[in-house]
Amino acid sequence: MPDFSRCILHSDLNNFYASVEMLRHPELREVPLAVCGSFEDRHGVVLAKNMLAKSAGVKTGEPFFQAKKKCPQLVSVPADFPAYLSVSQAVREIYARFTDRIEPFGIDECWLDVTGSRLLFGTGRQIAERIRLAVKNEIGVTVSVGVSFNKIFAKLGSDMKKPDAVTEITPENYKETAWKLPASDLLYVGNATARKLSVLGIATIGDLALKEEGVLTRELGKWGKLLHDYAAGEDRSPVALAGAGREIKSVGNSLTCYRDLTTEEDVHLLFLLLADSVAARLSEKKLGRAATVKISVTDSELNHFGKQGKPARPTRNAAVIASCAMALFRSVYPWEHPVRAVGIAVCDFAEAEQLTLFGDAEEEDKEDRLDAAVQRMREKYGNRVLQRATVLEDKRLAEMDIKGAHVIHPEGRRGDT
Ligand SMILES: [Mg+2]
Repeated sequence: MPDFSRCILHSDLNNFYASVEMLRHPELREVPLAVCGSFEDRHGVVLAKNMLAKSAGVKTGEPFFQAKKKCPQLVSVPADFPAYLSVSQAVREIYARFTDRIEPFGIDECWLDVTGSRLLFGTGRQIAERIRLAVKNEIGVTVSVGVSFNKIFAKLGSDMKKPDAVTEITPENYKETAWKLPASDLLYVGNATARKLSVLGIATIGDLALKEEGVLTRELGKWGKLLHDYAAGEDRSPVALAGAGREIKSVGNSLTCYRDLTTEEDVHLLFLLLADSVAARLSEKKLGRAATVKISVTDSELNHFGKQGKPARPTRNAAVIASCAMALFRSVYPWEHPVRAVGIAVCDFAEAEQLTLFGDAEEEDKEDRLDAAVQRMREKYGNRVLQRATVLEDKRLAEMDIKGAHVIHPEGRRGDT
């Protein structure tokens, strides 16, 4: 029996990167827009797009030149992660008016536990509406908010109607709403899991909830039990308390690939891309240099591997972080199966005063190497090789079990920013 006593919101910024760009450059509202990696158009990959570009068939992850063939008027702007982080922070300050239980999930999503806020601010739906309006009126971007009695259903709700909408999944209606959705809509059900479920005759979330747990455990191990509980509305995981661990102890990012990777070279290229966003985050948060690098790897059978190590000296350089990650990868990954997802996190930040000792020479070749990395990934795999990068702060990768037992979301995340 689910616990119906909590009230959880999941708030998701719509088309986030593209929305921030349109906010800063209102003329971009009138044109199909693609936000690309920080390199020239010719080599760029679409990281996010606005609605006009989406309706012209532009896809996240495809090379810009190819998107441009489908949509000749497509305009590109380079991704500006520091700008996105500052808008994200401003939105979180709005959330903080209603609760101190705010748990970020990537740069553009948060869970909010408003169970105790209802006496002051109204029902969950009313709080969600107030947040929706405040974000739109005060910041100028939109959110979709899901309201439910647990995190999993709240997340499902925020995906059901966008942009600029509130969707409630209640104890009364969850069987008529959530249970009718495809199982693959459930958080943590990626393509591989969806295929396994479909073999078991499970198409919808309701099918998953009603399947005998024993069958799921037999076929999917511990994940089977967990997914069954999620589908049944029995997710009891708490929303983290804002301010608990406010000091940033770790910065990380992970990527899931559309196609499994079979060579070290490809893994290295992915590490370079991830290291770039981690390095941007280090610099944006003025965290200095990191003395420790951690990696997580998930193979195509959803086995997880993790390890941490130290670069020769503390670094904030993307290429150095990537090569350290690569050394860790070589020492921990047995190559029994292809690689599905990789993540990098850095921690143990050096004090700001120490920074001048190291100079900036190591920063120089960063852009070139990233540009080359994206180009080579594309040559090898064509479109849509990169599903999406999520900027994860503080917790998930920081709490990764270094012996390799688990990473929080093995199949990465789906959908757009
Ligand atoms: Mg979003």
